[in-house]
Amino acid sequence: MDKTSLTRRGLLAAASAGTIAAVSHSIPAYANITKKASKLAALGGRPVRKNKSWPRWPHWDQEVIDSVVKTTKSRIWCRIQSSSGTVPTFEKKFAELTGAKFCVATGSGTQALHTCVEALGIGPGDEVITSPYTDPGTIASILAARALPVLADLDRQSYQLDPADVEKKITENTRAIMPVHMMGQPCNMQEISQIARKHNLKVIEDACQAHLAEYQGKQLGTIGDVGCFSFQSSKTLACGEGGGIIGDDEELMDRCYTVHNHGTSRRGRTEVAGPKYRMNEFEAAVLLGQLSGVRERFLRRNRNAAYLTSRLKDIPGIVPQKLYEGTTSGSFYLYATSYLKEHFDGVERAKFLKAMAAEGVSLSPYIRQGLHREPWIDHILSQNVYKKMFSEQRLRSYREQCVCPNCDRVCQEMAMIWASGPLLGTTEDMADIADAIEKVYENRDQLRSI
Ligand SMILES: *Cc1c(COP(=O)(O)O)cnc(C)c1O
Repeated sequence: MDKTSLTRRGLLAAASAGTIAAVSHSIPAYANITKKASKLAALGGRPVRKNKSWPRWPHWDQEVIDSVVKTTKSRIWCRIQSSSGTVPTFEKKFAELTGAKFCVATGSGTQALHTCVEALGIGPGDEVITSPYTDPGTIASILAARALPVLADLDRQSYQLDPADVEKKITENTRAIMPVHMMGQPCNMQEISQIARKHNLKVIEDACQAHLAEYQGKQLGTIGDVGCFSFQSSKTLACGEGGGIIGDDEELMDRCYTVHNHGTSRRGRTEVAGPKYRMNEFEAAVLLGQLSGVRERFLRRNRNAAYLTSRLKDIPGIVPQKLYEGTTSGSFYLYATSYLKEHFDGVERAKFLKAMAAEGVSLSPYIRQGLHREPWIDHILSQNVYKKMFSEQRLRSYREQCVCPNCDRVCQEMAMIWASGPLLGTTEDMADIADAIEKVYENRDQLRSI
C-alpha cells in the first residue's frame, strides 16, 4: 500500500470540508460516464460494477497465523499464566497506540463497558444516559449492573447523541453519560464533557466502533474517564470476540482489572463482586498479529472516505454523516449517509437500495429501529429490582421519555457501507460507489418502476 505524506490534520480538512485534497491518486477519467440518461441495472441496464470483489474483512496474513501458532506452542493460553503473554503485551501496545496510560483487555466490548459501569460503582437505583442508536451491547452493559439506561435523542445529521437532549434527561439519579461514537466518528465531546463537568457525572466513552479516531488532538477513548473498544470480527481491529478498556486513572483502571477478574485484584485478594471477563491469549495473539498494519488501514479508510464525501457533495439526496468541528480523523467502521427521499421524487429508500444493489454496490439500512422501540423496556419495568429501586413516578416518566423522533428519522434515512473491508479498496472501487449513486440519482425517474 502506498505511504501517504498526509498529516492527520490534512485528513480532517479533507473529511470535513469535503475536498479531495487528501486523495493521492488521480480520479479515473470515467468518473463522469454516468452523467447522462441510462437504464438502471435493476431494469435491465448495464451495472456500474460487475464481477469485482471488495477487500474482505476481517484481515489476516502470515503474521496473524504465525502469532496464533506461537501462542499455541507456548502453552500459555490464559493471561494469568505469564506477565509477558499476548494479553499483557497487547494491553501495553494498545495503550501506547491510543495514547492512554493503561489498558485492560476483556472478552468483548460489552464486557469492557459493563466492567467500567461496575468499577465506577454504578448499580441499582442509578441512571446512565446513552444513545438509542447503537449496538445492543451498549445498554446491555448498563442493564447487567441493574442500572437504568436512559436514552437521549440524536442529532439527525451526525447520528450522534444530541448534547441538549442529554442535559434534559439528567435526574438526581444520573451518575454517568455513555456517549457512543457512531460509525467510528466522534460525538460532540466538547459539549458532552462540559455537561458532565457541570453535573458531576462520569463519562464512559463507547468507542467500540472508533479505533484510532481523533478529536481535538486526542484519540477517542482517552477523553472521558474511561474508553471502551470492541474487537469483534466486524470492527476495524478484530479477533472474533474481544474488547478493551483504556484510561489514565491508575486506581480506576486497577479496579477495572479487579472487577473483570471475578473480583480478584492484582494483589491476589478477592475484593469485590465481579464477573470473569478476561481476554484469552489466542484472541490477543490475533490482535498482536494485526497491529502492524492497523494505522495504514486507518489512513486508507480516511482517504477513501474523504474521496467519497467529495464526490457525493453535489448529490442533494445523499448526505454523508456530519462530522463535528474538532474531528481530526474518523475510524470509518461504517461510511454512512442519509437518503433524503424528497430529492428522489419521494421514492422510498427500499427501492433506492434495490437499485444500488443491482448496480453492484450494496448499501445497508443498518439498524432498523432504535433501542427505544425494543421490548427490553417492558421487561425491565416488570422486574422487581427496578420496581424496588425507582419510584413509581420515575418509572412512569421513564416510559414516557422513551420517544426519540430524530433517531426514528435516522433509522428511516440511513444508507451505509460496511467499511472495514470495502473502504480499503482502490480509488477505482470508490469511484464505482460514487458512480453508482450518481447514476441512480440521475435516473431517479425510473425508480418507481423497480
Ligand atoms: C460492537 C459494539 C459494541 C459491543 O461490542 P461487542 O464486542 O460486540 O460486545 C458496543 N457498542 C458499539 C457502538 C458497538 O459497535
